[in-house]
Amino acid sequence: MAKDSGAKATDMMAQWRELKARHQHAILLYRVGDFYEMFYEDAEVGARALGLTLTARNNGGAADVPLAGVPVRAVAEYVRRLVAQGFRVAICEQVEDPRLAKGIVRREVVETVTPGAAFADDLLDGARNNFLCAVHAVAGGPGGGAVGVAAADVSTGELRLATAPPREADALLARLGPRELLLARDPAPGVRDALAAGLAGAGSALVTEREGWEFDPALAADDLARHFGVLSLEGFGVGPGDAAAVGAAGALLRYLRELQPAGVPHLARPLLERAGGTMPLDEMTRRNLELVESLRGGGESGTLLDVLDRTATPMGARLLRQWLLAPLTERAAIEARLDAVAALVADPISRAALREALDGVRDVERLGSKAAAQRATPRELRALGDSVARLPAVEDAVRRVAAPPALLAALLEQWDRCADLATDITRLLVDRPPVALGEEATVRPGVDPELDELRALRDGGKDKIAEIQATERARTGIGSLKVGYNKVFGYYITVTNANLHLVPPDYQRRQTLAGEERYVTPALKEYEERVLTAAERIEARERQLFDALRAQVGARVARLQCAARLVAELDVLSAFADVAEREGYARPTVTDDFDLDVAGGRHPVVERMMARERFIPNDVRLTEAARLIVLTGPNMAGKSTILRQIGLIVLMAQVGSFVPAARATVGVVDRLFTRVGASDNLARGQSTFMVEMSETSAILHTATRRSLVLLDEIGRGTSTYDGVSIAWSVSEHLHDRVGCKTVFATHYHELTQLADELDAACNYNVLVREVGDQVLFLHRLAPGGADRSYGIEVGRLAGLPAPVLARAKEVLASLEGKGRRDDGGRAEEGKGTGERPRRSAPASHRIAAQAAHDQLGLFSAVPHPAVERLKGVDVNALTPLQALALLAELAEEAREEGSGKG
Ligand code: ADP
Ligand code: MG
Repeated sequence: MAKDSGAKATDMMAQWRELKARHQHAILLYRVGDFYEMFYEDAEVGARALGLTLTARNNGGAADVPLAGVPVRAVAEYVRRLVAQGFRVAICEQVEDPRLAKGIVRREVVETVTPGAAFADDLLDGARNNFLCAVHAVAGGPGGGAVGVAAADVSTGELRLATAPPREADALLARLGPRELLLARDPAPGVRDALAAGLAGAGSALVTEREGWEFDPALAADDLARHFGVLSLEGFGVGPGDAAAVGAAGALLRYLRELQPAGVPHLARPLLERAGGTMPLDEMTRRNLELVESLRGGGESGTLLDVLDRTATPMGARLLRQWLLAPLTERAAIEARLDAVAALVADPISRAALREALDGVRDVERLGSKAAAQRATPRELRALGDSVARLPAVEDAVRRVAAPPALLAALLEQWDRCADLATDITRLLVDRPPVALGEEATVRPGVDPELDELRALRDGGKDKIAEIQATERARTGIGSLKVGYNKVFGYYITVTNANLHLVPPDYQRRQTLAGEERYVTPALKEYEERVLTAAERIEARERQLFDALRAQVGARVARLQCAARLVAELDVLSAFADVAEREGYARPTVTDDFDLDVAGGRHPVVERMMARERFIPNDVRLTEAARLIVLTGPNMAGKSTILRQIGLIVLMAQVGSFVPAARATVGVVDRLFTRVGASDNLARGQSTFMVEMSETSAILHTATRRSLVLLDEIGRGTSTYDGVSIAWSVSEHLHDRVGCKTVFATHYHELTQLADELDAACNYNVLVREVGDQVLFLHRLAPGGADRSYGIEVGRLAGLPAPVLARAKEVLASLEGKGRRDDGGRAEEGKGTGERPRRSAPASHRIAAQAAHDQLGLFSAVPHPAVERLKGVDVNALTPLQALALLAELAEEAREEGSGKG
């Protein structure tokens, strides 16, 4: 670090302290010359996080100050590492030239980088948004309040507002997957509960606490209107129900301005996400279906996203991810996407042309944002120009699609070729500009006369010297006169001693050497001055031209964002078409009816892990009359695969993709739930029986008749009888009271009796064939229940030693004997080994009773609203007529609840 005098050092620490006080929650990187220094606790934390040596510096007499520094040229990498570890980093620059500063150099924090507010490519993943979410809740109201979310991606400029009832807030946040969360420091108690409900979905986001008043909706509305230059937010579609989201957006904007003192001019006008159009997918469903991250390791391989992602652009990749996490629930909207995909499937030539045009389009959205934030480098701005220049090719390809469906036509209607932008950029910048202005040329020759002249001056140096030399020789008559150059004296004229008498009076002597003298002239000095400063002036002029171009482009960022959105949509639709063709998917028939009918369905991910022919397709039908499938079969038979495959096919259809099936009719579902029993999920460590039960209970409260519920081995996390009982009562509730489509996969073959007791339940099992002692997995679904667990046979396949297997058989036989006695002797023994023992009802009544008991236990926590109302009734204060009216209302309410809330 620079050597300061003691007094200066004290001044500097005072300046540091003042800056640090304003950035307490960030590591302050304080610029001193060629280093960024960290002091005190920042130094300790930073040194540990970055593996730097911690030193100490004498603080002008006071005690030693812990110190760690990073060199300026490597700062980007250090910032990346700190932010990746979840730190906020405030970057403090010298904002005046140290050579000109009087006293201590003025310094300012020019930017604070946080995980949720990052621009740098190495902090971002091209294929996903980097959301910073502010969350605010308002208490009260019919649904127990509302949770408002404002999500900004500073790298793309997106800003979204959404409001959800507390119980759906976690699904909303899970979909956005924020990197950082902004919360009020001390929320009011009611608000805190609503918030707590939502935050489960936010995963491992960094939490940043802000003052409560920053979330004030009225204050926020004013601030947002001012920021976007509108009189009121109504023009954005903001209504009275959006107060929580508006409050959140206000806090978000305030925070962003603090992080980016230069402003966030590229932040697009808020997009209001309205509930209803899309399906909220809760965290567990998203995980269990492995939509965007795998259960094992959390990576992308082995996910639906991985199979479907044939996108060519980063915008497309991000949109695909958004679509997968927000399936549509309106048939018309789904059909519109499917029509577009179908048209692209049907026209492979136009599709290929479109894919090729898209291939050259880089991240227009993020590059545009960088331009608007005055951060794009010359190379990035040129990449933006080249990408924009591809837009006409994209458009032409889409126009060529035979019989373009409505969605493609609508995209074309909004199309903006942005030709002016492309021309402006490509006309000014060279084909491959450098990353930074300086040595290499950024601006083309021939576009700016001033620049051309400066370059001529710099490059024409040799000719000019020869010219001066010739003139001086002619003027003085000294034939051996030479113009030379050295670092100390610059340009000079050399005259040998023999010719000294010819030297004219305007020559000024500079240096005497053996045998010669060196001179300068005023003209030579002036020339020298111009040459030496040419490089500097070239850079300055280039910067001027470049900055102006960048500002002009940045001012048109809204058009770039719009173009990016259209490109993204075309990219995803054509990727769907590509995948459909490659994987042999079929267009689903989407209806507003109840039924789900899949013929020859496959699991899109599992089928790719084996040779195509090896995957066994299966048929599944769920109708009002057969809406609950109990799916039994031994371990490894393929139950979980079929279960997930049903969920994925429905989800893919509602996203607008073709599906892995020979034929599929999909009655649109409003929600999709998937739960996996505790022990299946232990790998991630977060699933205990308690979690499994509370998740199950959440489904029972939220599912409606239009939902699809997939339960895999629910009840497995406890003892057999407990587990069977709970599974039983949960199924019963879904069947009787919710009435939704349900598939329950279980290795408890006892549950097959459900089908006998419930009208609309039926049994399916995944077939196995016994060959002697062996069991062969057929992976084929068939009507009827499984009757055994085949655990011992599976153990054999897994290589358990023969004596262990033999002993297990003995124990099983004895347990089965005992079970029979327990059942009052009602179970019958199988006859011989070839025929499977079919056990009859193991105390069906007892299970039903147990189920009823458990059901009470599960639901007593949340009393029925009618009961709540009854508690508040003062019978004495009612007239007979009022009493009758109330009774009718209560009865209606009870009926509504019973039919699954409509
Ligand atoms: P379960 O849930 O019944 O224990 P899984 O669904 O986990 O069984 O399937 C076990 C394995 O069987 C899978 O990993 C897969 O390799 C294979 N499998 C499942 N379904 C099929 C199928 N339809 N065709 C081919 N192989 C399958
Ligand atoms: Mg399973």
